[in-house]
Amino acid sequence: MKRRDILAAAGVGLAATALAGCKEKNEAAGDNQASAQQTFNWKMVTSWPKNFPGVGVGAERFAKLVEDMSGGRLKIKVYAAGELVPALEVFDAVSRGTAEMGHGAPYYWKGKVPAAQFFCALPFGPNAQEMNAWLHRGGGMELWEEVYKPYGVLPMACGATGVQTAGWFNKEVNSVDDFKGLKMRTPGLGGEVLTKMGGTVVNMPAGEIFTALQTGAIDATEWIGPYNDLALGLHKASKYYYTPGWQEPNVTFELDVNLKAWETLPADLQAIVRAAARDVNGDMLDDYNAKNMEALEQLREQGVEVRRLPDEVLARLKEVAAEVVDASAAADPVASKVWEQQRAYLARLYEYAELNERDIYNIRG
Ligand code: CA
Repeated sequence: MKRRDILAAAGVGLAATALAGCKEKNEAAGDNQASAQQTFNWKMVTSWPKNFPGVGVGAERFAKLVEDMSGGRLKIKVYAAGELVPALEVFDAVSRGTAEMGHGAPYYWKGKVPAAQFFCALPFGPNAQEMNAWLHRGGGMELWEEVYKPYGVLPMACGATGVQTAGWFNKEVNSVDDFKGLKMRTPGLGGEVLTKMGGTVVNMPAGEIFTALQTGAIDATEWIGPYNDLALGLHKASKYYYTPGWQEPNVTFELDVNLKAWETLPADLQAIVRAAARDVNGDMLDDYNAKNMEALEQLREQGVEVRRLPDEVLARLKEVAAEVVDASAAADPVASKVWEQQRAYLARLYEYAELNERDIYNIRG
């Protein structure tokens, strides 16, 4: 081949490539135009009462953000607990496609997915920043997606409470024996710890807690923290408010997306959903941090007695919690896999926190 021919051939090749590129571009633009015109009207079921501060408002804010960011192409109608499905059936509803989305707490479905608890809260476990580091940088989200995939659900972290409180008690807690026979509402692994301490644990959604406590159906409950507990009026049905929230140093909430529905969304709307979930995940924690402090001041003004669980009690709870978490993981092969990876990662985070963060808290006071 002469040099001129080679150049000519190359020119043709280049032109052909450029043409193909144009065609691809045009097709892509066509696709974008088609998807830009398509609107989606989705339903999101939640575990929360209507307009519920913190978590419920966070779920509603997520829906609004998605609608605003997508210019109205993805509209999400939010349903409070019981409007479409009961509070604790959100995961099932998304799994079977009754709603395209759901918002709840992973440990609510531990009966169906035991490993879900490990993405939510661990007694004496990670705080919000540690949980978020594991989920988003330490392999947690990849495991979470793998765990929910058989149920046709895509999870995203969508809200965090930060450190909760130990809860409301109508009986004093002075020793470990005071948990014997105690009827308490607390879900997840913290509930399993109380069961092992001799208590009777019940799980019920937010909307039922006040009445159960007031009528004596339960002796104690924890819910979230001052902000949400004040909203539920728990101080009007209870004598003592105990700290610290050993059972939940953080609870991470989840956005559930039906996988088949997810696959119908164009890539830009998927990116918007992911970005909105990340935004709400952080924003809700800011909300809790600001409002818990204000609400505790109000509770104290109303005469609430805040007490700290005795050291002896906390030490025993910690021992039992370690056994319960290990046993719970060991009872389920999927949970076992999650816990093995999570435990190793958290140990590294705790070592850093111990070296640096605890010191500054201690000095700061
Ligand atoms: Ca709680």
